[in-house]
Amino acid sequence: MPSTMEHAAHLSAIIGPRGSTTDREREAAEYAVQTFRALGLEPRVEPFVSATSAWRPFAIATGGMLLMIPVFFLGGRWIAALGLFLLILCVAMELAFAPNPLRWFVPKGRSQNVYAVLPPAGPVRQRVILCGHLDTHRTPWAFSSLRALAIYRALVTLGLPGAVGMGGLFLIGAATGNPNWGLPALLPGLLLAAVFGMAIQADLTPYTHGANDNATGAGMVLALAERLRREPLQHTEVWALCTGCEEVGAYGAAAFIRRHRDLGRPIFIVLDTLGGPGSGPCYLAQETMLLPLRSDPELLTLADRIARERPDLGAYRWPNFRGAYTDGAPAARAGWRVLTFVNLRPDGVLPHWHQPSDVYENVDPEVVARTEAFVWELLQAIDDMAERA
Ligand SMILES: [Zn+2]
Repeated sequence: MPSTMEHAAHLSAIIGPRGSTTDREREAAEYAVQTFRALGLEPRVEPFVSATSAWRPFAIATGGMLLMIPVFFLGGRWIAALGLFLLILCVAMELAFAPNPLRWFVPKGRSQNVYAVLPPAGPVRQRVILCGHLDTHRTPWAFSSLRALAIYRALVTLGLPGAVGMGGLFLIGAATGNPNWGLPALLPGLLLAAVFGMAIQADLTPYTHGANDNATGAGMVLALAERLRREPLQHTEVWALCTGCEEVGAYGAAAFIRRHRDLGRPIFIVLDTLGGPGSGPCYLAQETMLLPLRSDPELLTLADRIARERPDLGAYRWPNFRGAYTDGAPAARAGWRVLTFVNLRPDGVLPHWHQPSDVYENVDPEVVARTEAFVWELLQAIDDMAERA
């Protein structure tokens, strides 16, 4: 059976760029199905509908906010103020992964999750879901260099308070009937125009081959399924899950969680972007788009212990993954017990992230091997937990 690196080569080089909801993403799902079948497992495919772009909701929102400027100056001052606050509310909901009116206007497509169940040797006492996404992102200007990424992050961080400030000025202008209050609003308007431009540009760029993000994670889910087939855990049932549409707002993970509410509070381990040169096995204590989503404290403690006991693996904890999200976000929101692996370098950089250079040749097999060894140790420790329970 192929190793993680061999799966990663197949996904990134043979199938290639796997944009969310595209035929290539479907081909990657079919590859997962074939891999599970070859292991004698019964793969299950669950289709769902997803947005086709992560950027479009923000393009619509910032475009709408910019439109409120002429509305304000043409005399629709209350309409402009109200419209702006409604759009701000929608953006906040989008950042919190909540359904909102912006999603009505975003193009939709079909995608699918694939999973297979690996039974333990003994009776089932707990359940672990190993999750890796199959789809790949576009290659926007915002991710083209560290400098561009810093500019993009600054604009996004200032964008929301800027819009709130603009709304405040419009409100005063509407209440006093004095249109001059709209003039300082042109400043945050520039900020919103920049975000609008970036969001439009992003959707015009090609998809990346996604070797590191996330052929490594999805490949590791498949390779671990094979190892668990040979060496099952004692009391822990493992679900090997390859999701679609992570890159456009974790739609696949959200669809999976909705469909499997009956699982209670399973352990949900996310494997995402695990082969960047110079990175170690890195697990998140928290991820934050708008609201902080914390990893499970017990799983964090286990991971910390393994990191201490196995210094040869070079693993470390990352305090807070900001301005981005993983499949762990909807799981944490649903109250599932999450631990997410994202191999950030110690300086916080995610190598080749959403860049054309995210190809197989730039994945470090040694980092992948150490991460896989760490995740294997973690699975053993989780299984021991069930033993003691
Ligand atoms: Zn990813």
